[in-house]
Amino acid sequence: MVSEHLTEQLLAAILDTAVDPIIVIDERGVIQRANAATTNLLGYRTVDLVGKNVSMLMPEPFRSEHDSYLSQYLKTGKASIIGVGRDVIAERSDGTTVPVALAVSEVWLDGDHRFFTGIIHDLTRRIEAEQALEAANRTLEARVEDRTQELRALLVELERSNRDLEQFAYIASHDLQAPLRNVRQGLELLNEHLGRTVGVGFDDEATELQRLVTAAVTRMEELIRGLLEFSRVDRHPSAAGDPVDLDTLVDELRELLHRDIVDADAALTSEDLPIVHGDRVQLRQVLQNLVQNSLKYHHEEVAPHIEITATEEPDAWIVAVADNGIGIDETQHDRIFELFRRGHSGFEGVGLGLAVAQRIVERHDGRIWVESSPGRGATFHILLPKPGAGS
Ligand code: ADP
Repeated sequence: MVSEHLTEQLLAAILDTAVDPIIVIDERGVIQRANAATTNLLGYRTVDLVGKNVSMLMPEPFRSEHDSYLSQYLKTGKASIIGVGRDVIAERSDGTTVPVALAVSEVWLDGDHRFFTGIIHDLTRRIEAEQALEAANRTLEARVEDRTQELRALLVELERSNRDLEQFAYIASHDLQAPLRNVRQGLELLNEHLGRTVGVGFDDEATELQRLVTAAVTRMEELIRGLLEFSRVDRHPSAAGDPVDLDTLVDELRELLHRDIVDADAALTSEDLPIVHGDRVQLRQVLQNLVQNSLKYHHEEVAPHIEITATEEPDAWIVAVADNGIGIDETQHDRIFELFRRGHSGFEGVGLGLAVAQRIVERHDGRIWVESSPGRGATFHILLPKPGAGS
């Protein structure tokens, strides 16, 4: 057992070495003890505090209210701080204030002496940290808002320049058709005229030049027709929600491409095709472009075999057009969908079929991609969302 004297010393030492200020008052609010930490935080020497009313450590209006608060508590036992604890403001000897957490407990000695002990914890650092955090949050929010605004503005700008570009492509290709038609007619008239006047006197070089110019005009016609077709995809009135029976669509395609299929000795098969939702004219265009490519990019000695199938996903249909042709190198799988991009030389074409197909599929909120390796055929997949999917 520790002696009473030692206990007293121990308690005094605990009080004086405590980091937080501890103040003991009596029932009238008169300070009985104050530890060293009180001086550090509030600037008063202990001797200046003992015997004074604790309200001197509070700013107005709490200073004036404290006495009545205390007597009210003694009468009614209703406390708002005692036994609860609160964040309050304390006033230092120099009149400045400091935010503190105040915890007050009630102590009875000898059964009839009542005291109150207040432990005060300086909140300055915590509040500063909270304020710094709030300020950082506000800065961050402001930056996010700024970036969002910038991105929104960019998006508007991008949409506008996209529209301008589409408009330009449409107008340019549309308006270029008329002069090109004149060139074509002029060329034909010139050829006729030279045939009549120079006739057999035409030498090989003149014939070759004639062929080159005609080929260049034909290519330009193809390019302009393609560009017009491409820029018309979005101008086409949308019927993207209509039911489209793919079986019927493929039958129509067989008729439409009958000549090409026969010429290539090709087989176009299909199996259990579903009803999808979309614009029938545009979806037929997609399948037509894919099938025409399969008819074109085949091995020389192998007749093309093209198979159209479909698989169901919870939210979409995936239609596949597979062939046994020359295939495409993996490095080209994304690029072949770009406008005027060609993956194989030595075949006719301008590099537009897949760009148009992609534009149409994206207009249907779908996706198109290819799986293939060189020499082993190609399978184009078209994902078409079911109505209501993703919305
Ligand atoms: P084009 O056929 O006029 O070149 P496309 O846009 O239809 O234009 O096709 C782009 C490129 O994709 C083609 O040049 C070709 O290299 C490749 N490609 C398309 N379909 C196939 C296919 N079924 N098999 C192999 N390559 C293909």
